[in-house]
Amino acid sequence: MIEKDRNMRGVESDLEFENKIRPQELENFHGQDKIVENLRIFIKAALMRGDSLDHVLLHGPPGLGKTTLANIIANEMGSALKVTSGPVLDKPGDLAGLLTSLNAGDVLFIDEIHRLSPIVEEYLYSAMEDYRIDIVLDKGPSARSIQLELAPFTLIGATTRSGLLTSPLRARFGITCHLEYYDTPVLAGIVKRSAAILDVEIDDAAATEVALRSRGTPRIANALLRRVRDFAMVKGSGRIDIEITRIALGALNIDSRGLDQMDNKILLAIIQKFKGGPVGLNTIATAVGEDAGTIEEVYEPFLIKEGFLKRTPRGREATELAYSHLGESRYEDMDSLF
Ligand code: ADP
Repeated sequence: MIEKDRNMRGVESDLEFENKIRPQELENFHGQDKIVENLRIFIKAALMRGDSLDHVLLHGPPGLGKTTLANIIANEMGSALKVTSGPVLDKPGDLAGLLTSLNAGDVLFIDEIHRLSPIVEEYLYSAMEDYRIDIVLDKGPSARSIQLELAPFTLIGATTRSGLLTSPLRARFGITCHLEYYDTPVLAGIVKRSAAILDVEIDDAAATEVALRSRGTPRIANALLRRVRDFAMVKGSGRIDIEITRIALGALNIDSRGLDQMDNKILLAIIQKFKGGPVGLNTIATAVGEDAGTIEEVYEPFLIKEGFLKRTPRGREATELAYSHLGESRYEDMDSLF
């Protein structure tokens, strides 16, 4: 009943919002220029040959556009997309069911592919390489295996933790793309595009301010845009300008440089517990209660790119910028926002 009321009032769900603003063509995918350029060529070549596209591995921190690119690739290839994720495929039978349902040229997207169970991963090898899988029927003495032919398909795997992929799996991807954090001007462009789709006016300075505070991440930029839009509607004229943006981001306790709680925790630990470093990755991980690999692949690249952290032969060091940032900023919980 509540659900029905909501729909009747036209409340925009997260999914609807996502679907509206997710770019559908390479042309509307801003940034990651090298990746886009290469994909354009690989897709065109595959279409000219009438082949399916080679398997693609997309890796990079969350929210940078891996799922979006998978959608775009399927769209540009003119194929159907099936979506699943590593933890969901826990039995070989689940994978076999999915693979046998694919038609020639279809795209199978496996998110969090580093979380596949080893046994499912092994089934994937022959599927990726020879488009066939061996299924074992029955158990014990009556066990026998049958081989199923698959239609040529494209596997797109996405991972935030490429370091956790086994080398046999990694070797089976013909195309590997590493997504980087977005620069402010590109992110501001994404914010403006999303605002246009949402039919809300935003000026350049406001779009840049949202971009600056979004940790180089389109998902965060889009989430902040929605919240700023709320403030503009209720407290302003509906139009998003720099004043209302600053008021909104201030009220939401968004860090002035877009760092999230874990970023700040890492910097604070290095400064307060280890005199600014140098300190080893594992020591930092223990101090902040996060996995060392996640710090290395998800948090550190942004902190280094923005000049808060240095990687030296003796360990990680906080920079002057980290000191001055922590001296002036507050680090409340941003998690509740997204
Ligand atoms: P990931 O799969 O890497 O976690 P998503 O593909 O789900 O990230 O992207 C998160 C959000 O950011 C989506 O709403 C998407 O529309 C938007 N987005 C990501 N990359 C871009 C881009 N390059 N241009 C425009 N919007 C983007």
